[in-house]
Formats: sequence, C-alpha cells, structure tokens
Amino acid sequence: MRLSARTLAALLLGLALALPLAQAPAFASEPLAKELFGAHRLPAATPPRAHGSYSRGCMEGGVAIAVDGPNWQAMRVSRNRRWGHPEMVRIVERLSREAAADGWPGLLVGDISQPRGGPMLTGHASHQIGLDADIWFTPMPNRRLSAQERENMAPRSLIAEGSLHVDERHWTRAHEAVLRRAASYSEVERILVHPGIKKKLCDTVGGDRSWLGKIRPFWGHDYHFHIRIGCPAGSNNCQRQEPVANGTGCDASLDWWFTEEPWRPAEGPQQPRARDVMTMANLPNACRAVLQAPSPASEAAVTVTGPTLPRSAAAAGQTSGALGYAPMPETLFVPRERPQR
Ligand SMILES: [Zn+2]
Repeated sequence: MRLSARTLAALLLGLALALPLAQAPAFASEPLAKELFGAHRLPAATPPRAHGSYSRGCMEGGVAIAVDGPNWQAMRVSRNRRWGHPEMVRIVERLSREAAADGWPGLLVGDISQPRGGPMLTGHASHQIGLDADIWFTPMPNRRLSAQERENMAPRSLIAEGSLHVDERHWTRAHEAVLRRAASYSEVERILVHPGIKKKLCDTVGGDRSWLGKIRPFWGHDYHFHIRIGCPAGSNNCQRQEPVANGTGCDASLDWWFTEEPWRPAEGPQQPRARDVMTMANLPNACRAVLQAPSPASEAAVTVTGPTLPRSAAAAGQTSGALGYAPMPETLFVPRERPQR
C-alpha cells in the first residue's frame, strides 16, 4: 500500500492527538520537570506568584514555614516541602494560632510545596503552586519532637481499619473544630478529607452547616487534611478551580464514596502518573523563568516564624547587580487581617 505524504501526515497527526498528554514520551535529552524542580533547595527570589494549576504548575516568591513555631511543628523536614505562597503559609500560621485558642494543642504540618513548587519526585499530584498544605489529624504533642521522630513518627489514621468510617476511639469534637476553623477562612476554597470523615461531619455537625460544602471527600486523607486556597491576588497566571457546589455536599455525591466503584482496583496496564512524565513543555512558560531565577541569600531570610512575614528576599527581583538577591531591608508583604466568612 502506498500512502501519499499528505495521508501519512494526517495519520501521524491523528495518532499524536490520540495520545493523552500523560503518555507523551519524555526524551532522554529532555529532563523531567520533577527532577528540575526537585533539585532546587531555595525559592525564586521574585515577587510571589502561582503559575498554572494545582497539579500542573510552579511558584515563585515562596516562603517557608519554620520547622518550629509557637503552635506548630513541621514533619518530614528532610523532604524540604515547607514552602508555599506567602498567602498559604500565612493561613497555616493563622490556623495554628486560632486552633490553639480553640483548644487544639497545635499543628503538625505536613507537605506544602517544594521551594519553587512544580511536580515532585514522590507523592502528591497537586501541591505544585504553593497553595496546598497538609495538616496531620494527630494533635501536636506537648514537647518538641526530635528530628528522627519528625521523619519516622507514624501518623494515626482516623479511619477504622478495613472500614470506610471513622474510628470512634480516635475521632473527637476537637477534630471537627479545627476543620471548622480552617473552613472559616475566606481564602480556603477546599479541604480534602477521607469520605468517612466527611460522613462523620455530615452526621454530627449541628448549627451552621454551610462550611461543610468546603469539606471535600477524597482518597487518602485519613491521617491528614489538605487545605487548598484560591488563586491569590497578583497571580494572574494561576488557574482557578471550579468553585464548590452550593450546599453541604452531604448528598448523593457523598453516597457514591460508600459504593464499591471508587475502591475498585484498576485493571490492565496503568498509564504513568502525569507528574512522572511531565517536562517543562507541559508546564506554563513562566515556569522556565522560575527555574532560572536567583535564590534568596538564605533560607532564614524567607522563613516564617510567626504572624509577621519575614523581611522578604522576594524583593530581589527589584534590585540589580551581583548582590541582587540579598534580602531587602523593607518588609515586602504587609500582614493584614482578612475577613472571616
Ligand atoms: Zn495533600
């Protein structure tokens, strides 16, 4: 059979279109985005911006939450995922303070993002633009955990083993209160929890139930909850997620999670995870510049230790010369109270 050049071209084009993005081959000459972003130890010292979507993007001008704060302790510190958009880190700090006032002993802070966001070598699909943070359901102990414990301490699931429902021995009203507090922030658009936890809230929360709409059932999330904030002001390149539907979500959409379907093991050959094959071509163009941007002078210069954001090295983008990434003397991000919903 002879194919004209035109037919061949059309066939090839059709084939290319039929290949899902996740299957796009990563050529040996084209480094994986997760390796490029995973190699950075410090953020881009430029004004804070989230680029792209939660599962396909990057971040610049990130700040870190300190390993220890008055009302928090960071876990799995060696992963170096304590970095977020300043707005996200501010929310975590605020939650730690206000939850403590509610009676929660303090937050064990899990992963936020890599210093410049982007896909990760292991774990999460999302957490790429500095707007997602994982908080353990285990309350902070009343002592400082050792470096070793932060790496190895096993989290406790709130879901009873072999079940889709909360373990009544471990679920408390304090868990409800910390979720309610997080959901009360207008910046927080979604909080991901195991469906069994959402069900427990649906069955037991009295009074104002409107905040339950932000509590979203999802796989995993039995030992931690996942706070997601919306695109911050100034991040014009940040892709908004569809707003959550009105109502509490205590409905048929939740019932689905208690059927067999969501838990059915996948059959046949599996596609690789998107984060494992992404190259820079799959990310917003701005992410190339984010990779190239200068770093701040030190991690300490961009670490949040309390309610006030650090004197930020993010202002480096506004200076010039060889010492362009020394911290600026002014506070770039002025802390301000945000209205609660
Ligand atoms: Zn998460």
